[in-house]
Amino acid sequence: MTRDQNLPSGIFRTYDIRGIVDEDLTAPRVRQIGLGLGLRLFSEGARTMTVGHDIRTSSPDFGDAMAAGLCDAGINVVEIGEVPTPVLYWAVKHLGSDGGVMITGSHNPVNYNGLKITRGVYPIWGDELQELYTECLTAQPAETSGQRSTHNLLDDYLKSRTDRFQFPKGIKVAIDCGNGTAGPVIIPLFEKLGIEVDALYAEPDGTFPNHLPDPEVPKYMKALCDKVAQGDYVCGFGFDGDSDRVGLIDENGKKISADLLLLAFARHLLQQVPGGKIIYDVKCTDDIEEGIRKAGGEPILSKTGHSIIKEKMRETGAILAGELSGHICVGHGGDGFDDAFFAALLTLEIMSSRNCSCSDLFADIPEKVSTPEVKIPVSEENKFKVIEDMVAIFKNDPQGGKIIDLDGIRVSFDDGWMLIRASNTTANLTARIEGRDTQAMQRIGAIVQEALETQPVDIAPLKEALQN
Ligand SMILES: [Zn+2]
Repeated sequence: MTRDQNLPSGIFRTYDIRGIVDEDLTAPRVRQIGLGLGLRLFSEGARTMTVGHDIRTSSPDFGDAMAAGLCDAGINVVEIGEVPTPVLYWAVKHLGSDGGVMITGSHNPVNYNGLKITRGVYPIWGDELQELYTECLTAQPAETSGQRSTHNLLDDYLKSRTDRFQFPKGIKVAIDCGNGTAGPVIIPLFEKLGIEVDALYAEPDGTFPNHLPDPEVPKYMKALCDKVAQGDYVCGFGFDGDSDRVGLIDENGKKISADLLLLAFARHLLQQVPGGKIIYDVKCTDDIEEGIRKAGGEPILSKTGHSIIKEKMRETGAILAGELSGHICVGHGGDGFDDAFFAALLTLEIMSSRNCSCSDLFADIPEKVSTPEVKIPVSEENKFKVIEDMVAIFKNDPQGGKIIDLDGIRVSFDDGWMLIRASNTTANLTARIEGRDTQAMQRIGAIVQEALETQPVDIAPLKEALQN
């Protein structure tokens, strides 16, 4: 095996390793990363890792290369084949592996792929990924190789869910799998539970011929919204490419943002665990904090990032953690990691236990007008400097708002709130603006726009979002 001293540091990102296939991410490099990772974990006492891969065309080869690299380090590898990310997490837990690697490009464009790495079920991320990068440059194979074995766990996973959930007859849902990993798992799962399901784009296809699998993007969910509005479905669910994020559509075809779904989960779980802690990220609506308190829970605000909320969940013993992006981790009664299928089933369980419609779950939450998450292009060099400047601008003049600078700058006003932060995964700032009505959203949007106009960024996407 030859080492690749040109292993690009840029693919080691904050939450995962990600790159363009055959450009900066190649099978030999994946093997080298597997070796570096294996040596690191072996030195801590790890002996077995589980490896799975998504449906992208490069994923089987990368899965093979990862397994080979881990074996080079003396780690035994259980290969579970093509699976959604939550099934990999579940397998690590179920098999008692020391960790896992999921080969997935998630919702990213067709030419991307990446690696999500866990120790146990907890992500390896941030500074540790940077350390791993350095170690990969000099990694040497161990004297004794590990062994590879294959294991099909799908039936065991399905059984764990059918043991956990039961539903009355007559539930019918529509789903959009976006040609990602969801179809082959969620369709049999719903069927086993007696839930009738109509699916859009269920066939896995790594060329994503219909739309990229990202339920957070309203235009990608339009076909599902229309389908649900026209049919007699209790609701609809969209899944991202690797099925660790869920999107909910109510029975009228209206997209419900994931922060509100998180609040519905919080209210439900807090009835079982009064005083429980709930983690939510800075992109969530202001109503979350108040809603959790009203339901008798303890709200905990977190920086954005599925790795961060999971770590915070472990630290605080929270019963639930979630993000606006649709990563929702159910601790109480769940596995504590982001499983979009579990989230879909819990949604249906809450509806059927209350004998209410999907929209009823959100009926008492005041209607707000908000932008989706707006991506504002900025160079990597300027990204964090711009955020520093924005924090300074608003600290100097909060314009009557309350400031939180945990992750970027968030300002809450009486009539709404705004957030500007640096994306950890792309060369963008991300902004979100919400008002109690359109006028309030425009008012706050103008404040954001004015502040950003002083900076080297492209504010066209913000202008566009405020017009819609
Ligand atoms: Zn994902």
